Amino acid sequence: MSTSFDPDSISFPVGHFIGDRLLDAQPVIDMHRPSDGRLYAGCPVAGADLVDQAVQTAKKALKDSNWGGIRPRERTIALQRWADLIDAEAEALARLEAVSSTRPVGHLVAGDIAITAEQIRFFAEFADKEGSALVPTDDANLGMIVSEPYGVVGAITPWNFPISMAGWKLGPALAAGNAIVIKPSEMTPFSTIYLAQLAIKAGLPAGLINVVLGDGATTGNAITGHPDIAKVSFTGSTIAGSAIMTNIARTGVKPMTLELGGKSPQIVFADADLEKAARVITQNITSNAGQACVAGSRLLVEESIAPQIAALIKAQALTARAGPTWDAATQYSPIISDRQRAKISSIVDAAISAGAACLTGGRMMGGDGYFYAPTLLANVDQSSPAITEEIFGPVLTMQTFRSEDEAIALADHPTYGLAAGLFTSDLSRAIRLTRRLQAGTIWVNRYGRSRDHILPTGGYKQSGIGKDLGREAYLANRKTKSVLIGL
Ligand code: NAD
Repeated sequence: MSTSFDPDSISFPVGHFIGDRLLDAQPVIDMHRPSDGRLYAGCPVAGADLVDQAVQTAKKALKDSNWGGIRPRERTIALQRWADLIDAEAEALARLEAVSSTRPVGHLVAGDIAITAEQIRFFAEFADKEGSALVPTDDANLGMIVSEPYGVVGAITPWNFPISMAGWKLGPALAAGNAIVIKPSEMTPFSTIYLAQLAIKAGLPAGLINVVLGDGATTGNAITGHPDIAKVSFTGSTIAGSAIMTNIARTGVKPMTLELGGKSPQIVFADADLEKAARVITQNITSNAGQACVAGSRLLVEESIAPQIAALIKAQALTARAGPTWDAATQYSPIISDRQRAKISSIVDAAISAGAACLTGGRMMGGDGYFYAPTLLANVDQSSPAITEEIFGPVLTMQTFRSEDEAIALADHPTYGLAAGLFTSDLSRAIRLTRRLQAGTIWVNRYGRSRDHILPTGGYKQSGIGKDLGREAYLANRKTKSVLIGL
């Protein structure tokens, strides 16, 4: 049970974490608390020299500890100890996270942090269970597919779920026997540093996790272009993913996993449990104030039930309690920055000026924090930026359809294919449409991940390349070598 706290009582680990030490660094980027707009810290920016120091430290740690070559169960046990410490330190982690991010403290302890610890345990178990294979050959040969770690993995994460996103990268990379240089978002870097400090406390070799702080242009580029980074794992926007591909192509070829943006549809048929559908849809678009890659931000409803669904969503939209993220009772999050809130506001205002009906919300909320009211827009033109762009806020657009074909045509986004939701009580229709929907994840009569970490997540189209979570994420952190021995 998490408790409210005073944000001014928290001190932040401002610096880069390389080896087992926090290196002093000059704050460069101003950091404001999303909940009240107060300037509270500054984020340093690591240049190419510091990134190189982190990479060399990681390489040396791999060599000295033989992390990739020790008995795999030892890796499992070490990572399990780390996960246990994360659970034990959940309150402290939550406080660091809640001040700088949009995650309410109450959601962090039982949600993000507990799930991250669980996912690290999940990946730790692959270390001694997933491996090389003997393959059929003729009697004159012995054929093997040998699986090996990459070496040093470079990871870059976004601000919207900082601890979870760090866990998605760190868990599989370390379990698979790699070291990692990770750059969290410049808006929410401190909880990732704390995770690295806890790893040392748990007995993981120093230098296995190195955290460099900074922006994308300087620090991010130095990571993705570093010749000794063997693989890049990125989560963030499609535009940054594209810039990373360019930089990798420019500086040398290496594998990459890219988890990018989305503009996911939620399709409701008249035969669905409408009360449940409305509840799930509202809960999803208001959770973290819509700042989720898989936010189901495009509601597509069968025409006959549109007024009913709209009324249900409208009635529920404002019920989550808004408040500072350090208040244990807060359910509704602020937007990460004033700039991001202004972007949301301008897209919504433009849609309304172009003729969309604002059924609820459509405004900034009062107070010093960057809150934006849950918003439902109807009659939005298919070419409107409210439909085409990833708004990354609590904004739901509603469009209607008359047939499955029309629903599929509206659902099909030209750029994104991260996730899709489908509400229907017709089993055949559900199966038919899961086959037709072009998305990396499809949820039927629910929306959002469960705690089944075995289900991978990743995008179709420009929503990404490769997967996080699941066996796929572990395997993506190993390379394979084919060996054929003549007998
Ligand atoms: P962003 O792309 O602006 O930044 C993400 C990270 O990349 C940050 O650490 C940033 O400093 C860094 N970065 C930016 N440009 C870079 C470059 N050229 N080279 C290297 N690093 C660079 O995204 P954001 O605003 O932090 O996060 C929101 C975005 O992340 C949304 O588009 C959301 O959909 C996406 N996201 C995707 C998933 C997923 O699993 N697909 C999960 C969470 C968030």
